[in-house]
Amino acid sequence: MNMNSIQGIGMTSPRTRKRMVDRLQARGISSEAVLKVMNDVPRHIFVDEAMAHNAYEDASLPIGYGQTISNPYTVAQMTQALLESGRPLRRVLEIGTGSGYQAAVLSPLVGTLFTCERIEGLMKKAQQRFDLLKLSNIRSFLTETEVGLPRLAPFDAIIVTCAPEEVPQMLYDQLASDGIMVIPVGGVEQQMYLITNDAGLRQQSVISGANFVPLIAK
Ligand code: SAH
Repeated sequence: MNMNSIQGIGMTSPRTRKRMVDRLQARGISSEAVLKVMNDVPRHIFVDEAMAHNAYEDASLPIGYGQTISNPYTVAQMTQALLESGRPLRRVLEIGTGSGYQAAVLSPLVGTLFTCERIEGLMKKAQQRFDLLKLSNIRSFLTETEVGLPRLAPFDAIIVTCAPEEVPQMLYDQLASDGIMVIPVGGVEQQMYLITNDAGLRQQSVISGANFVPLIAK
């Protein structure tokens, strides 16, 4: 991939990306930091070339292996939820690297981003995109048997981009004592939860509906 393909032309151009950001703003995304980073990150390099011209539509798209890149609004909403909490975001964990797009959006907004994926082919492609964009604060991991990275816990924030039927206790246990987690939960009917831990006091609220591929736990 060369600089021209990062820059984009036509349906992958900065102008097309700006229109996506304008739509996000019209739908209620108000965080300047989120709008700026989504204006900066070239979403079209996170999808297959054949799909690149659809990259700035309000849609989730296939990324192979039966998985999808989340739609731009959902990425913006989850990122904004973490930022608006005002909590520290020094060490942040993402479950479900997929294309790497959500990780790339979070990268400039956090200290270190740890991201894990269970499908090696996706993890490798995502890592190539992080290298191309010089996102040097992202550490990616292939996780096959565990959910998350218990050995590197605790994390200030956890963002989950695949949906478990219930919040895995193993994952909640990886949250710092003032930590925050944003996670879609459910099967056919899903809801997006914001969960906080304040020195052991767990609180949760529903922020929206959701529509994610399932979290696979072995
Ligand atoms: N954040 C991604 C969305 C990817 S879709 C993006 O921006 O493109 C969700 C991903 O979660 C899939 O790639 C799937 O393989 C992965 N996944 C499912 N269960 C997982 C688990 N237990 N641990 C890590 N990744 C998981």
